[in-house]
Amino acid sequence: MTLIADLVSLHRVDSQVRALRGRLESAQHYVSMQERQRLLLQGRLDEIKSQTRQYQATAANQEAESGTIKARVESLRTQLNTSTNPKQYAAVLNELKVLQSKRDEVDDSTLAQLQKVEELQAKLLEIEKLLAERIQVKAAGSVELEICRAEVGSRLAELDAERTAAAARIPQRDRDAFNRVADLYEGEAMAELVAVDVGKERDYVCGVCNMELPKDKYAALASNQNIAVTCTSCHRILYIQEAAAAAS
Ligand SMILES: [Zn+2]
Repeated sequence: MTLIADLVSLHRVDSQVRALRGRLESAQHYVSMQERQRLLLQGRLDEIKSQTRQYQATAANQEAESGTIKARVESLRTQLNTSTNPKQYAAVLNELKVLQSKRDEVDDSTLAQLQKVEELQAKLLEIEKLLAERIQVKAAGSVELEICRAEVGSRLAELDAERTAAAARIPQRDRDAFNRVADLYEGEAMAELVAVDVGKERDYVCGVCNMELPKDKYAALASNQNIAVTCTSCHRILYIQEAAAAAS
């Protein structure tokens, strides 16, 4: 076989390897993306739980403080009722007022904390729901991935072997050139050199990028299929139809 026919064979098997590997990689990528989102949600969930505990603890402390103030207020009221000294009465009354307003402040703050706890708990439910959904989606993705691995795995091993065999038939220099363009175009390393009849004239274009090619490209390829010719525009390796037909 000619170099060009060998390159076409390599191209065919190389595209299949890349397509299968791409399918596997996108299934893996999908699962790892779900896992990343699950971790983010789990992080937010933990954070909200910890905030909730803080607000609850503060509210509990303030409730206790309010209780202490209440006890003191009641004892002062008793003092007030039994007080006979006007100066002492005024002092007790003043302390009572101060304590009462302090207690109102503490109670307001407690309510605010409890309000926040309620808001956080609503958020918590929302995130728990999202998290459950994400876990489900990830599990489905993992099943898909396993199916894909099973389907792709053995076929990929076969194709890899075929690719190695096809590559071995090609001289190092051409193989390197092929790999460079294949990497650049995600496997689309070759393009058919297409003849287009324009009136009496015959033009030649690259079958992939559609750029017009100099006529000597065709002449070179038609006369010697053991030298690789590339598109002047996209640099893909060119082949003519008969090389494709000759390729295994
Ligand atoms: Zn081209």
